[in-house]
Amino acid sequence: MVTHNWGNSFNDLLAAVISDALQECSFKLAARLLEEDCTFLGEILGKAGHLCGTYWICAFAVNQHVSICHSNPFDRDPLTDQLHPVCSCSCVNISDPDGQSTLSEINKFDDMMYHLAATGGCRQVIAVDQSLDLFHRAWCVAEIAEARRLQMSQSLKLVSKLAIQQRARKLEDLDVRSMQASSDRDKELILARIGNVDEFNTELQSLIFDPKSGLLASWKAMDSLQQMGEVGRLIRWGLADAGSGKVWKAWDCHDV
Ligand SMILES: [Zn+2]
Repeated sequence: MVTHNWGNSFNDLLAAVISDALQECSFKLAARLLEEDCTFLGEILGKAGHLCGTYWICAFAVNQHVSICHSNPFDRDPLTDQLHPVCSCSCVNISDPDGQSTLSEINKFDDMMYHLAATGGCRQVIAVDQSLDLFHRAWCVAEIAEARRLQMSQSLKLVSKLAIQQRARKLEDLDVRSMQASSDRDKELILARIGNVDEFNTELQSLIFDPKSGLLASWKAMDSLQQMGEVGRLIRWGLADAGSGKVWKAWDCHDV
């Protein structure tokens, strides 16, 4: 299951997923290869036997369109500040003011998480955008906390070590009360579900920063392992490059 924020670039979201499949901690190299030659990256995934892996991504799996397409209360053109025009499709809009409609697919967060955890073998991949805005999105943080509560294995994907070194301080005073959500109602729902907000904020800090079990500690441990196995990694990418030079061209700007 992939946790991502909708403000992230599509390229970086895919790069994070591909990096997870290729067991890379950082996704800068995959992002570059996607930009340069995505067919080639597909071949690498195929040769490594990862083309049949399945990732659950809400942007593809959840039909949000039928719940939102006939109204647009907040999404503005960043240039003109005008509300984007609404869609003229013929789908029947699902009205769900209290978040209880059985037809709506966007109110089943808890059930979906529980199902994924209960069916076993499901991990959470946290595709973090370059600005670390994901940690300021209420839904994303709620997903991370819920996955931890359900004891799902969690794995951060960051663009690079440099990015986290430069921006980790942004995460030190996270408060779910000041996080953003698509609408006020969404935020109310999330806060109501949390209950004790101060306790949640403290747990969130430990979830991210705990030196033993925190998400960043796990990322660093995986990154160190990767560096220790750097020779093996170079050989692996060298084989993937297959004399084309495409990997090494992308590697130039890949701060490891
Ligand atoms: Zn529509």
